[in-house]
Amino acid sequence: MYDVIIIGAGPAGTAAGFDLVSAGYSVLLLDRRNFPRKKACAGGITPKALDLFAYDISGFIEQTCYEVKVRRPGGRCFTVKDSRPLCYMTRRRDLDMFSLNKVVGAGGRFRKTGPISAVSQEEDHVAVHTPEGRLAARYIIGADGANSRVRQMAVRPRTRYHIRKCPALEADVYVNNAQGFKMEFDFSQGIPGYYWIFPKKAHVSIGIFAADRNVPMTARHLADYAARRLGTDRLRNIKGYPIGVDGRGTFSGRKPGAGRVLLAGDSAGVAEPMLGEGIYYALKSGQLAAAAIIRALEGGRPALTSYHYSMARVRLDLGLYSLGAGLLYRIPGPCLGLAKFKGVHGHFSRGYAAGRSLSGIVFPF
Ligand SMILES: Cc1cc2nc3c(=O)[nH]c(=O)nc-3n(C[C@H](O)[C@H](O)[C@H](O)COP(=O)(O)OP(=O)(O)OC[C@H]3O[C@@H](n4cnc5c(N)ncnc54)[C@H](O)[C@@H]3O)c2cc1C
Repeated sequence: MYDVIIIGAGPAGTAAGFDLVSAGYSVLLLDRRNFPRKKACAGGITPKALDLFAYDISGFIEQTCYEVKVRRPGGRCFTVKDSRPLCYMTRRRDLDMFSLNKVVGAGGRFRKTGPISAVSQEEDHVAVHTPEGRLAARYIIGADGANSRVRQMAVRPRTRYHIRKCPALEADVYVNNAQGFKMEFDFSQGIPGYYWIFPKKAHVSIGIFAADRNVPMTARHLADYAARRLGTDRLRNIKGYPIGVDGRGTFSGRKPGAGRVLLAGDSAGVAEPMLGEGIYYALKSGQLAAAAIIRALEGGRPALTSYHYSMARVRLDLGLYSLGAGLLYRIPGPCLGLAKFKGVHGHFSRGYAAGRSLSGIVFPF
């Protein structure tokens, strides 16, 4: 029997796995994909997310952005700048492979799995039923993304914990001067959401994020946008996936898990719903889930209770983002009209550049 089985080897799963293995616990990471694998994600890492990695990922940074261009409804732009980096550009395929290797290098085990058919809980352990057999552990962390099977099978039926999904679609566009582009959020496309342009080393990532699941989003939309903005409609690696937001724990007090099963990252719905930043929250929740399990294994209170309480600051952050998203996508013109003033956006960009979370910027105490 393992101490912990983690399902999903994205940032939430590997962050949890690394901390558990480093603390001397036995960990099995399961994923339905072999690594390296392409993950739908623009790979933008904020300073606060970079600070959370337990190891140096600087070798995977393709571009460091000190400026972010914001296009308002109607097309006028303003630029947010800081002398410190505002975002780092990476590629998830490489970053996730590196993180998984860190867990395996520290003593964790990784296995590709077929579809999980059940998760059953006993008094002192929990078991995952896979086509390769039954696997048992003291705890399970469900880190299997927004469409989480773990949430659907082991948590939702017991607690009615559910999440909301924001669709996102992205593609790579190979252009001659990728590094000449600025990181850009474009709110002028008439959707409750935005289009993005993120510069990488040899290509730019373009994409669409929608705060509402009914926003139509196709490769044609992206190709037309690329043609207008980048002068080519040749898209590569088109990939879409939902982002898990508004996990019920945010407002209702419901815990992100059930019994010996803890949810982390998008499976718990802890990405932020305004811009869809999920890597920071995946790392943070994965690390807090691991810490809660370590405390429980050492005789402390039940892991899920401990995890829920330790997520209070994250819930505050996500609640603020929820309010922000509600305002921004209902009245984008006035919101961005206000945000264009340096006195307003400068306060937030300084906080972000310093690696603070939204609640840390709004309540600096
Ligand atoms: C198009 C797009 C662009 C984005 N851009 C950014 C960005 O620039 N910056 C940012 O911070 N966030 C971004 N996000 C959000 C971010 O990608 C997610 O919030 C983040 O990846 C969540 O991490 P996770 O570990 O919870 O889940 P994931 O990264 O989704 O990892 C889940 C893992 O579980 C595995 N899995 C899934 N189902 C099963 C199963 N049934 N059995 C076993 N394994 C399974 C998957 O193969 C995957 O490896 C973006 C998302 C999308 C869709």
